[in-house]
Amino acid sequence: MDASDPYFEERKSLVERLVKEGIIKSEKVKNAMLRIPRHEFVWPDQLKHAYEDTPLPLGETNQTVSAPHMVALMNELLDIQVGEKILEVGTGGGYHAATLAVLTCPNLDSPKPLVFTIEINPKLAKFAKSNLSRLGLDKVVKVIEGDGSKGYLEEAPYDCISVTAAAPRIPDPLIEQLKPGGRMVIPVQSEFFEQNLILVKKDEKGRVSKFNAGPVIFVPLRGEYGFSF
Ligand code: SAM
Repeated sequence: MDASDPYFEERKSLVERLVKEGIIKSEKVKNAMLRIPRHEFVWPDQLKHAYEDTPLPLGETNQTVSAPHMVALMNELLDIQVGEKILEVGTGGGYHAATLAVLTCPNLDSPKPLVFTIEINPKLAKFAKSNLSRLGLDKVVKVIEGDGSKGYLEEAPYDCISVTAAAPRIPDPLIEQLKPGGRMVIPVQSEFFEQNLILVKKDEKGRVSKFNAGPVIFVPLRGEYGFSF
């Protein structure tokens, strides 16, 4: 995760482009995107595309590694503070979770996990675990195999929730598992098949407000509160 890695220059120019485009706004998100080597989280046949700003297929799973601009945008919207507890729904290969780890624990030295990421596809949960542990991120990030549309009650409540698959509506359990003062980003699909990224905020009195951050394209959320097709 430093200047000695062969992809550092490619990663740096991608990050600089995202800054120029106004997607990366803060030093902390810039730092997280610079530190996390996306090439360590892509499927082996996609290595040469690792620093293209596009989603990349995860083998035969029909799932994708999110595009860097989407990871940066979601991280900016959440405005993660050091030490916050985070739930990610939809681990994929673990790339986004790794950036969340840097945001909540810049020294990556937390004695217990602060990022809980839940993946419904067993093959991907295994892939993400091995990627994160190879990079020494498994102390800060815990991968759980299961249905994240219900959240993850065992570690609730969370300061931030990041959902990386499109839901038919915002699942109630996810709102319930947000702390007062908590934030969630979630792509929601309308009945006309458009998806929008929604920022949900819960204030100190537990009141919930929603803000539409614009159109997006995500794979569908599965599970109890997801799509059943
Ligand atoms: N966060 C990933 C990354 O770092 O690149 C991208 C994830 S991909 C766009 C969406 C993921 O959500 C897929 O891996 C899919 O299997 C997973 N998923 C879909 N429904 C889910 C559910 N109910 N619970 C957990 N994971 C789910």
